[in-house]
Amino acid sequence: MTTPTSATQRSQRLLDLAGRLADDFATRADEHDRENTFPFENFEAMKRENYTSLPIPEEVGGLGGTLLDLCLCQERLAMGDASTALAVNMHLFAVGSMAEQVGMTDPQAMLMAGMLAQQHWIIGGGFTEAEIGGNCGFPTTTAVRQEHEGVRGFVLNGRKTFTSMAPIIDFFAINTSTTDDEGKPVIGMFTVPRATQGIEIVETWDTMSMRATASHDLVIKDAWVPEQALVAMRQPGDTDVGANIILSWFCGTVASVYLGIATAARDFAYDWAKTRKPVLFERPISHFPGVQFHAADIEVELAAARALVHQTVQEWIGGGLRGRDDLARIVLMKYLATNAAVRIVDQAMGIVGAPGIFRRHPMQRFYRDVRAGPFHPMTNDVARELIGKTALGIPMECQPRWG
Ligand SMILES: Cc1cc2nc3c(=O)[nH]c(=O)nc-3n(C[C@H](O)[C@H](O)[C@H](O)COP(=O)(O)OP(=O)(O)OC[C@H]3O[C@@H](n4cnc5c(N)ncnc54)[C@H](O)[C@@H]3O)c2cc1C
Repeated sequence: MTTPTSATQRSQRLLDLAGRLADDFATRADEHDRENTFPFENFEAMKRENYTSLPIPEEVGGLGGTLLDLCLCQERLAMGDASTALAVNMHLFAVGSMAEQVGMTDPQAMLMAGMLAQQHWIIGGGFTEAEIGGNCGFPTTTAVRQEHEGVRGFVLNGRKTFTSMAPIIDFFAINTSTTDDEGKPVIGMFTVPRATQGIEIVETWDTMSMRATASHDLVIKDAWVPEQALVAMRQPGDTDVGANIILSWFCGTVASVYLGIATAARDFAYDWAKTRKPVLFERPISHFPGVQFHAADIEVELAAARALVHQTVQEWIGGGLRGRDDLARIVLMKYLATNAAVRIVDQAMGIVGAPGIFRRHPMQRFYRDVRAGPFHPMTNDVARELIGKTALGIPMECQPRWG
């Protein structure tokens, strides 16, 4: 007779897996960063180990991890290679939030989740555009209703930026401006197979941070898809519980990736401080008050940010944070954690000093990578508007917006 695995055992097993992957990825992270190459082998390893199915239920072939498991694992993975962790996060948060949104009682959803897990398909996309940035308004990418050989469907046209994992995405999630059955303008979300005619990746990714994410442009030219490819429709600014689900999965996991970078920077800095001994002194620099104060600031920031992320995610798992006003609480964890991560890496750089800027040490990569955190939605300014307005009892849609 087999004993059922307890949730704690499963969580530990998942964290061990993330640790093994992270330690392996760390051996190549600098090379991929320097060469601006995509770590295909990391994604092969994550598929082999089923890490790409972490939030999919075990009954259909996934690893059955909760949102908290995913956050802990993504933090650990980012300690090894932040680019890989951030890139796979675009798939993992999408899969996790979809599974939660449709609920695993729907046979169609079960089938799709099972296929994703067993085929190791990767979903990515397809939201950001140069014209709209990270805003949730009507995209410039369009989906126009058009029949093809008697089959109802849509023709898609547009260009997306920041398409992380572009070389290996199997299904692109593409946000478009389209119309509902009555011809009313809506935002339509499509899932489009990579092999669809008219889909092209244009290699534009050469950045300061997160270089190995291959977040290239996705160009969509007269790509026809059947109407089943339209998986969701909504109005701009809609804030039903779906928004809370997506943002909980996105904010919790993105916050964790950037806390992983902060933790890796901290560990490097502490090792450095314990072993660097200038000849003028008898003991290593860890005995200097300045270094100790840097360390204290790091510990305080890290503990506070981690605690907030884990508490918020646990509250979500417990069924809370489903209300409209709760969006601010959800976004707050991402705002606090990504900005704390930047400050922690700055403090770690302060401990290491000038050697930290050398290419041969990973500190400069942590320093560059961590800076991308506040740019993910909600960006700092938008997050502060939401948090501030919610605190003051002002709805986001209140017009005029300011003053
Ligand atoms: C490494 C990395 C990987 C990414 N991967 C993906 C991916 O796979 N898929 C994807 O779709 N996207 C991805 N993104 C894009 C990301 O999700 C954001 O959408 C994007 O970084 C925002 O770009 P922007 O700064 O041009 O946006 P903007 O939203 O235009 O922001 C520019 C500035 O204007 C301010 N601003 C913008 N709108 C408002 C507003 N309404 N009110 C007040 N201030 C405002 C912002 O705060 C910011 O200061 C990725 C980003 C990074 C950095």
